[in-house]
Amino acid sequence: MTQPTTSTIERTLILVKPDGVRRGLSGEILRRVEAKGYTLAAVELVHATPDQLATHYAEHEGKPFYAPLVDFMLSGPTLAVIAEGDGVIAGFRSLAGATDPTAAAPGTIRGDLGRDWGLKVQQNLVHGSDSPESAEREIGIWFPQS
Ligand code: UDP
Repeated sequence: MTQPTTSTIERTLILVKPDGVRRGLSGEILRRVEAKGYTLAAVELVHATPDQLATHYAEHEGKPFYAPLVDFMLSGPTLAVIAEGDGVIAGFRSLAGATDPTAAAPGTIRGDLGRDWGLKVQQNLVHGSDSPESAEREIGIWFPQS
């Protein structure tokens, strides 16, 4: 008899970046997250501060794309979301698709809705945590009251 696989209920931090909010894609992106069976535990429209972004993107500090990326993230509101579900950390990254929206596969958020616009990968609609440790760290940055 096949054993049921063990479920791993996790939570992750999803951001609909300013390009997604500006283009009116927040609802479509959240629809895809919910349609996959994940639960929205918190949703908040946030105008990020430079301090928040410096912490969130600390691993990229010093890279050529860092300063333009921070400027882009300051250019308008971001929708911050905590999503929960079985394997949601890898699951959302799979829904999001490859970092470069021009290369991202059809069927993914970035593949269906994004493209590079000549901006070197920067405006790719969404962020999703890449590990349980990142998720907890990033939830603390975007939902400091939680
Ligand atoms: N980014 C960029 N230029 C690059 C690579 C990344 O502007 O050459 C931006 C892009 O918005 C990306 C973010 O930096 O989503 C974080 O990069 P990471 O490699 O962590 O990609 P992700 O995990 O978001 O797919």
